[in-house]
Amino acid sequence: MSDAELVLRSTRVITPEGTRAASVAVSAGTITAVLPYDAAVPSGARLVDLGDDVLLPGLVDTHVHVNDPGRTEWEGFWTATRAAAAGGITTLVDMPLNSLPPTTTADHLSVKRRVAADKAHIDVGFWGGALPDNVKDLRPLHEAGVFGFKAFLSPSGVDEFPHLDQDRLARSLAEIAGFDGLLIVHAEDPHHLASAPQQGGPRYADFLASRPRDAEDTAVAGLIAQARRLHARVHVLHLSSSDALPLIAAAKADGVRVTAETCPHYLTLTAEEVPDGASEFKCCPPIREAANQDLLWQALADGTIDCVVTDHSPSTADLKTGDFATAWGGISGLQLSLAAVWTEARRRGHGLEDVVRWMSTRTAALVGLDRKGAIEAGRDADFAVLAPDETFTVDPAALQHRNRVTAYAGKTLHGVVKSTWLRGERIVADGEFTAPKGRLLTRDH
Ligand SMILES: [Zn+2]
Repeated sequence: MSDAELVLRSTRVITPEGTRAASVAVSAGTITAVLPYDAAVPSGARLVDLGDDVLLPGLVDTHVHVNDPGRTEWEGFWTATRAAAAGGITTLVDMPLNSLPPTTTADHLSVKRRVAADKAHIDVGFWGGALPDNVKDLRPLHEAGVFGFKAFLSPSGVDEFPHLDQDRLARSLAEIAGFDGLLIVHAEDPHHLASAPQQGGPRYADFLASRPRDAEDTAVAGLIAQARRLHARVHVLHLSSSDALPLIAAAKADGVRVTAETCPHYLTLTAEEVPDGASEFKCCPPIREAANQDLLWQALADGTIDCVVTDHSPSTADLKTGDFATAWGGISGLQLSLAAVWTEARRRGHGLEDVVRWMSTRTAALVGLDRKGAIEAGRDADFAVLAPDETFTVDPAALQHRNRVTAYAGKTLHGVVKSTWLRGERIVADGEFTAPKGRLLTRDH
């Protein structure tokens, strides 16, 4: 490791080959070697001995609504990237909606990039949006470096981001398949939603009944059919219905190019525990029953679900009314995602290696970030340092999110992030942040 500037040493380094004691050599922001624990440190290199704290690759969260510019009272690049860094995330990919403008043209992408440039504490990439009327904008967005395109199959919640009907979905997907792009989809069928009972009000059971599993199952089935027909790449966002799992598993076995994600809230919270009126738990599709959750965990274990992302989608507290029908739908979880998932994973007998695979390696692979997602030579020196056995109780006041409304308030979680590193620089340790050092990422770079 003669050219190393920095050596991080831990008795527990999570590498693609497993967890082991190792010394990780870093030069110019890149991992140059993963060496034996007691390898000699070259003169001039700085040694950081992490003891028994776990060194893991920084998480890559490919589903975050930063809402900047335009709805920065909901979140923003400054606050979102600080919260992410505090939670061990070193790369996020921003969703194309809830900001104004939405990321639906190359010009809008430029606006977003300008706004993010000096606020990003971690690396930031962008998704584009596929709307009913912007097929002509998809290729220019692709060439400008978005990681893929998001579409809704049912109303999105904001007027400026309308959903695609089946014909428009087919047209957009054909265009995207033409350059082998990726379409990521909010899969709930609007007809099933419209025919479900829409009671409104504070009862969580009524809200759950208004977003039934078959709305997801039908939309997923339709999406798979389109992907099969066009040999296109599609990704199912925030899967909640376990009834859709056999469809996804069968499609994968058939060679359909489909992947799927789920979220910390579906894996760690249950419908049974949501108090009536507690709309900080509202998201679409909804948090479902404990039995449904068990099957999501099984699907992660067997690979039917590929990855876990936050779908961090905050709003101001006043929009989280006590009525589930009118409250803003979105769960704020960026800073807590690693601890929340790890807490439940360990209870269910999974290792930290599994969590790293779901929240870093596979998400990096989903968007083609081959310098992220693993601790091995040639990748960016992005790390989280975690004390996995330490616990903390979630205090909303300690969150870096702009709005400190959280469904996790008062929960005791395992896993304290001691520090987070971006390209070999410690960007946060013990709540102290450096100036922003994040870069704006484009596809293939
Ligand atoms: Zn989302």
